[in-house]
Amino acid sequence: MIYESTRGRAAERSISEAIIQGIAEDGGLYVPKSFPQLGTIDRSFADMDYISLAHLVLRPFFPEFSDLELLDCMRGAYGSGFDCEETVPLVSAGDASFLELYHGPTAAFKDMALQLMPHLMSASLDKCGEEKDVCILVSTSGDTGMAALKGFEDVARTLIIVFFPADAVSPVQEMQMRSAGGSNVRVFGIRGNFDDAQRAQKAMLVDEELAGRAASLGYRFSAANSMNIGRLLPQIVYYVRGYGAMLAAGRIEQGEKINICVPSGNFGNILSAYYAKKMGVPVNKLICASNENRVLTDFFESGIYDANRPLFVTNAPSMDIIVSSNLERLLYHASGGDAEQIGRLMTELSEKRRYELPSDIRAGFSDFAAGYASQKDVLNAIGEVYREFDYLMDTHTAVAYKVWEDYRERSGDDIPTIIASTASPYKFAEDVCRAIGADFCEGVSAVRSLHSACGIKIPEPLADLENRRIVHDTTIGREDMKAAVEAVLSSFASR
Ligand SMILES: *Cc1c(COP(=O)(O)O)cnc(C)c1O
Repeated sequence: MIYESTRGRAAERSISEAIIQGIAEDGGLYVPKSFPQLGTIDRSFADMDYISLAHLVLRPFFPEFSDLELLDCMRGAYGSGFDCEETVPLVSAGDASFLELYHGPTAAFKDMALQLMPHLMSASLDKCGEEKDVCILVSTSGDTGMAALKGFEDVARTLIIVFFPADAVSPVQEMQMRSAGGSNVRVFGIRGNFDDAQRAQKAMLVDEELAGRAASLGYRFSAANSMNIGRLLPQIVYYVRGYGAMLAAGRIEQGEKINICVPSGNFGNILSAYYAKKMGVPVNKLICASNENRVLTDFFESGIYDANRPLFVTNAPSMDIIVSSNLERLLYHASGGDAEQIGRLMTELSEKRRYELPSDIRAGFSDFAAGYASQKDVLNAIGEVYREFDYLMDTHTAVAYKVWEDYRERSGDDIPTIIASTASPYKFAEDVCRAIGADFCEGVSAVRSLHSACGIKIPEPLADLENRRIVHDTTIGREDMKAAVEAVLSSFASR
């Protein structure tokens, strides 16, 4: 299994090299050159323990890992730290089937990949004989930051620096990150939005001068964002599980197709669903759900990607994104691997913040449908589903639910659908209280208010937020991110 850059001007890599590197040196993203086939997916995929399933699905992507090594990584990731036995339970509410991906240590789906990635990273460093330590740069719209901090906390030979938009995450997300433990972590709020943070982060990852200075201090950079292929592969596993669970629940017959609806921002989660389809999971449509930042909806409708628009801070903040990184990977696959053309489109995007898709690539998008939900739609959907089915969604999951409802009505397609449930409602407690008409205290105390109203168990990692001590209190300008990185490296190197 070989990995190649979407822009075609970087060397092909093994999986360990691609994971260590994070982003290709030509600015492109690594993609697998082919997709292994799973064969028939039957009920046994629902009954298997998650560790064995992850091993089965991911094995062909990691040829240079021995079975034992890979299993060790899986055990480290999924052995404990999840608060339910099924790891990713499939829960029905009316016609909807929610695949709950948020039972990990930070209560969002990002844990599914970020619990595994540090193990893969450590093993990869050994395999490649890399002598430098890794400094992981993270830009986050809220959930990746905490999941990465938790995953890499005190992991040998790694240092992790997280940047998040200071005024654009939920109080729970901000408190989680600012109180993060671990001797190898640093967190900065930035004055700017997620796109600013991601752009600066990507620039640092391909900045040769900065890399030189880091190397002299004994470090090399990598990324824990979904631009790293090590983030996307683990996410394929739960879609395979979801299909098996639909079978086990009697919602479909073997071989019958499903739709998958995913609340999307950086397009990583839904891209993993697309990869699952490529591996043989019977999928009809992949439904891409956006919030009021509807750049992806417009793109799927018109074939024009137009980033010349303001970014709104919404009640589903982890999806407040204008430049969606992983779309580049879909373009690459849909174009049949035309790296030259993708390189051109991406240059156009960075220069003009806009590009129009040639019709031949657009034809490769027939697997997708798209839609968006307003903030009001989100609150209504949460309230409605709670009253009618006694099921509580977080704001991001509610975006997907609303978009799925609209899609069904518009298309008449009522194929059984998995809705990716991406976060615990407690992470966005204020808005969820508002949606179900419950009184609430502001800030992190809203977690307690929500508990009084709905009685659902508070995930352990969110239970003591009010008593946490803030350790990372710095907020910087977005133009100061590079200086901050250099200062952190120097301080760690001189220890
Ligand atoms: C990150 C995130 C999303 C968006 O996922 P992408 O892979 O960026 O498309 C949706 N919901 C929640 C809760 C998230 O944390």
